[in-house]
Amino acid sequence: MAKASRPSEERDPREVADSARRAVRSMARNLRLRLEDEARAGLSAWPRGHSASLMAGGSSVGGTRTRLDKQAVAPGKAAEAPPAAHPPSPAHAAETRAAEALRGELEARARLAARPRAGAAAGGQDVLDFGSPDLEGGVGREEALARIAAEVAGCDRCPDLVAHRTHTVPGQGSAYARLVFVGEGPGEEEDRQGLAFVGRAGQLLTKMIEAIGMTREEVFICNILKCRPPGNRTPSPEESANCMPYLARQLEILRPKVLCALGGVAAQALLQTHDGITRLRGRFYPYKGSRLIPTFHPAYVLRNYTPDTRKQVYEDLLKAKAALEGAAGAE
Ligand code: URA
Repeated sequence: MAKASRPSEERDPREVADSARRAVRSMARNLRLRLEDEARAGLSAWPRGHSASLMAGGSSVGGTRTRLDKQAVAPGKAAEAPPAAHPPSPAHAAETRAAEALRGELEARARLAARPRAGAAAGGQDVLDFGSPDLEGGVGREEALARIAAEVAGCDRCPDLVAHRTHTVPGQGSAYARLVFVGEGPGEEEDRQGLAFVGRAGQLLTKMIEAIGMTREEVFICNILKCRPPGNRTPSPEESANCMPYLARQLEILRPKVLCALGGVAAQALLQTHDGITRLRGRFYPYKGSRLIPTFHPAYVLRNYTPDTRKQVYEDLLKAKAALEGAAGAE
C-alpha cells in the first residue's frame, strides 16, 4: 500500500527538493533505457517535433505523460530511424530536454511547497487564505498567469478601451514574486509594447525598485486596468470594475506577501475607499492575505521631483522591503 504523504505545505522544503531531484534522475534513467531499447529493436520513432511533443505533453509531473511512443509520429508518416552512426545522440538530447523540463517543473513545485502559507506568515491575523484555484487544476503559475493574459487579450468588456488599444497589458514579472506593484493603467508606451511600466514612469519605477536592493525581474508589475484609457484619462468606475477580476485572479495565483499600490487610483480601487493618496500612503492595510502599502505614483514623483516627495516614496518602499523580510514594526 502506498505510504500516506503529508500535505506538501508541511514537508521540509529540502526533502521536497531532494525527492524532486531523485524523481528527475530516475525518470531520465528510465527514459534513456527505454529509448535505447527501442533503438535496438528498430522501433524508435524520431519524428520532427518529437521533443516538442515531449516538452508539451510530457512535462506534467502529476500525470507523468511521457509520449515517447509511436503515437508521436504523424499519421501516415514513416518514423525516422535514429542515425545509424550515432544512435545515442538523439536519445541523449531528448532525454536531456525531458529531464530539464521535468526538473524545472519539479523545482517550481518544490519552491511553491517551501513558501510559508499566508496564515503562517502573518500569525493568522488579517489573513484570508484564498487558495489558488488555477493551481489546483495542476497548472503551474506561469501557465495560470499566461491563461489570464490570453483572456485579457480577447476581452471586450470596455468598448471605448477596446476601440483604442494597440495591445492589452496584463502585467509581467516573476510568477513567484513576493512583492507586486499595481499601477493605474497602461500609458502610450505600455500600449505600444504590451508591457506594464515601460515608459518614463516605468523607468523611474525601475530605479525605485533598485533603490531598495531588488530588481524588476523578481517582482510582478501590473495595473488595475489592462488596456490604455484613451488620452491617459482616469479609468471610469465601470472600467475598473470590469477589469478587477483579472487582477484578483493574478493575485490569487501570486499570493504576494506585499502589494504596493502606485498612486491614488490603484490604492482607492484596491481598498475601496475615496481617501486620497496623501492620506493613504506609507501605511499597511490587510488585503486578502497580503499587506498592501500605497505610495505615490512614479508619474506624480516625476511631476513633483522634490527631495520631500522622493524621500516619502523611498521610505514607503523601504517599509515594503522590511515587510517582505518579516521585520517587526513595518506597520
Ligand atoms: N502608469 C501606470 O499606472 N501604469 C503603467 O503601466 C504605466 C504608467
